Amino acid sequence: MNSLWEKFLEKGKVENCPVYDMHAHMGTYSRIYFPYGEFDSEKTKQRFDRSGIKLLIFCHHWTLFSPDIGNTANIETVRKLPEKLRAYCGVNPNYPEIIEKDVDEFEKYKDVFVGFKLLADYHGLPITHKNYAPAWRYANRKKLLVLLHTWGSSHYNGPQQIRKVAEKYPDARILMGHSCHGEWDEAVKVMKDFPNVYAELCAVVDDRGGLEKFLDKVGSKKIVFGTDWPWFNHHYYIGAVLDSGLSDEDAHNIFHRNAEKLLEKLIY
Ligand SMILES: [Zn+2]
Repeated sequence: MNSLWEKFLEKGKVENCPVYDMHAHMGTYSRIYFPYGEFDSEKTKQRFDRSGIKLLIFCHHWTLFSPDIGNTANIETVRKLPEKLRAYCGVNPNYPEIIEKDVDEFEKYKDVFVGFKLLADYHGLPITHKNYAPAWRYANRKKLLVLLHTWGSSHYNGPQQIRKVAEKYPDARILMGHSCHGEWDEAVKVMKDFPNVYAELCAVVDDRGGLEKFLDKVGSKKIVFGTDWPWFNHHYYIGAVLDSGLSDEDAHNIFHRNAEKLLEKLIY
């Protein structure tokens, strides 16, 4: 048992190991009740303080599923709690005119966005589709983060599609949300082949062995922490990562060091 594990267990958070949640959402969602769906700055801050969340990067549910309001919900929410929040600009390939507008205006929201979020399995067009191209080109040029929803054997955002965009846009920093869930060996190969591709842990720890494999074959410098909050609880995910038996050094890389490096020039 390592000392960070024990400290987290005792206090629920650790001062010198802040947590960056690189994959989260905000807002209400159809078919499920979220206690934190209705945004409240004070409550959110208290919640984050309990588990030592230093920064949470999200894409608002309403942006992803209500294209008529575009990224407004992201912008408004970050500006209500800027010390704790940043957002991914949501990209819906079914509305290419909105993508072009969002890319054109990206500079205006430097205090809000650190990159883009693609949800291809839900939006029904593969991440290689031409409608995403303005966002990919911009991310590549500005070295922005691109959080992908990824899943094993998906034709929209599985390992094969990730390879294509990683090769075409080598300066975009690609975070594989859910790390090609289930196809852990393929995720490992993609990370080894492309220095700009990282594993993101949401849904990885629901299956014993995925995280252990990434640590063993790729190392903790290519792994970032994420939870899909408010779908999952921070303490549950932090605990699951620590319980893999990883070293303190690896835990620091995953919970904050890698994120700090990736965000270095993107946080204003
Ligand atoms: Zn998500």
